[in-house]
Amino acid sequence: MAELVLRNVYKQYENTEKSWFRKKKAQKLDFAVKNLSFSCNDGEFIGILGPSGCGKTTTLRMLAGLETVTDGDIYIGETRINNLLPKDRNIGLAFEDYALYPPLTVYDNLAFNMRAKKMSNEEIQKAIDYVAPLLKVDDLLDQKPPSLSGGQKQRVNIARAIVRRPKLLLLDEPLSHLDGKMRQGMRHEIKRMHHEIKCTTIIVTHDQMEAMSLADRILIMKDGELQQMGTPMEVYDNPENEFVAGFIGEPPMNLLPSVIQKEEGTLFFTFENSPLRVEVPKRYLGILESGKKVTLGVRPMDVMVAKQTTAGSYIPIAIYENLGDERRISVRVGDSLMNMITTDNVVYERGQEVQLEFYAERTHLFDPETGKRIRAN
Ligand code: ATP
Repeated sequence: MAELVLRNVYKQYENTEKSWFRKKKAQKLDFAVKNLSFSCNDGEFIGILGPSGCGKTTTLRMLAGLETVTDGDIYIGETRINNLLPKDRNIGLAFEDYALYPPLTVYDNLAFNMRAKKMSNEEIQKAIDYVAPLLKVDDLLDQKPPSLSGGQKQRVNIARAIVRRPKLLLLDEPLSHLDGKMRQGMRHEIKRMHHEIKCTTIIVTHDQMEAMSLADRILIMKDGELQQMGTPMEVYDNPENEFVAGFIGEPPMNLLPSVIQKEEGTLFFTFENSPLRVEVPKRYLGILESGKKVTLGVRPMDVMVAKQTTAGSYIPIAIYENLGDERRISVRVGDSLMNMITTDNVVYERGQEVQLEFYAERTHLFDPETGKRIRAN
């Protein structure tokens, strides 16, 4: 167990593909990871989230020593590990392809690295006796990987990663091959395992449910750069920028380009090509003035069809979906489609004219130029 610290880490790959006459020099590609700094505490569970190609796996591979670090420092505890060989880093790895040795039994797969380290048979037996029940693979020790289900293989994969009690456990999309129900089961297994061994753990995933449910803190990346790091509630409730706001949450937060307008002494959010007007909540009054352009963010749960009609404008429902336990309603606001989720039992129809009500205190503001959050005073 140990604290992990990354300071200003960069990764630039080289395009080593040779041209047809093999004379072309290797070209530097754009940075896959840019100026990445974060730390995780001893025993913490961190989730790295972000769209495809944002640098998640590259980050994990640098931690594991499978990729060189172009610039910056990585520490585990007091030790700078940049130049340590993977085998000397005391890191457990479980990547999405199980990479188990098919001709070996589960026991021998678990023992493989320990034998390479010349550990005694007694030590190996002790380590496997501890980890096998923890990952529920104790009944599988005599079987070989081809006879195992996807979930069983993944449990063996993770058992192998933690059997030597690593300082740091790295999981790269460990559940991506499993179907929905199995994923949920494995999520619980991983959580239970982490509570038991309390090893500093980093999981890379594109599945935000996975990250939100497993991780103490989530790190969100885009184009190789850190966008925000925080607890699941922090990144959900207080996204630092439009990207995080639109990335976390399903369906995502509505982000509506808006201009503030004053009408009869009251400030409103107004929207191009839309009759919708939303009164500016009190907490924003000190920072907004008529004519200012902002992006208004509102989660689908925080806007609804008004129960009581007012003098405000009506908007037709563009899409209505009844999903059983919730209903999804979308309306057009200018060029954007605004999604709403409601659990009330009123049935609506496409085209029906409705008025909207915002939970104004739960709206978010972003600067349309920079995408950064605008904080209320
Ligand atoms: P995904 O979710 O699709 O796995 P990711 O967030 O894990 O994506 P990376 O695999 O880290 O992203 O890739 C980050 C960037 O680095 C991408 O632009 C990718 O094309 C590039 N890249 C990754 N590996 C290499 C490599 N070996 N050589 C050159 N470029 C690479």
